[in-house]
Amino acid sequence: MLKLDLPRLERDGSLSFEASVPPDDPLWEGSDLRFEGDVLVRGQASVSGSGEIVVRMRVEGLRIAECRRCLAPVRELLDEDFIVVYGDAGEVGDGEESDIRPLAGDVLTLDLSEALREELILATDRWVECGADCAGLCPICGVNRNEETCDCSPDEPDPRWDALRALQKE
Ligand SMILES: [Zn+2]
Ligand SMILES: [Zn+2]
Repeated sequence: MLKLDLPRLERDGSLSFEASVPPDDPLWEGSDLRFEGDVLVRGQASVSGSGEIVVRMRVEGLRIAECRRCLAPVRELLDEDFIVVYGDAGEVGDGEESDIRPLAGDVLTLDLSEALREELILATDRWVECGADCAGLCPICGVNRNEETCDCSPDEPDPRWDALRALQKE
C-alpha cells in the first residue's frame, strides 16, 4: 500500500504515488481516528540536493468524530497536505525544528504509513462539536438534550458547570 519503491525513486529522482487506506486498516488502531470509506492519499516523493527524500502528500477522507458534548457522531471532511522528510537520523540540527525521519530498515521500500498516521493525528481536532448550539447531555440523568427533555431540576446545578456558565454569559 503506502510504500515507495526506493530504487526507482533513486533512478528517476521523483515518484508519484496514490493509495487508499480502508477504514478498518490496522493503521488506525489505537488512534482516535475513525473514517467512513477509504482515506485517499496522493503525493509525490523527490530526492533533494542534499539526499533527503521529500514526500508531499494530500490526504482526503471522511472522518467520524464524536461530539464532545452529546457524543453524537460528527462527520468531518478531511483535506490535509503534509510534507514529510526522510534522511539520515544523525543529521538532525540543533534546536531547529527538524522533522527529519530516519530512513531505517528496508533499503528497497519506504513505508509512509507511520508518518501518515502521525501527521493525521496531529492535524485533526480532538474537540469536535456537532453544532454550536449543541445542548449536550443532561449532567444528572444523561439524556441527550438535543433530542429529549428531562425533568431534572435545574435548581441543583452541578457546581462543576458554574465556571463554564459564567464564561457563556459574558
Ligand atoms: Zn452534540
Ligand atoms: Zn436530566
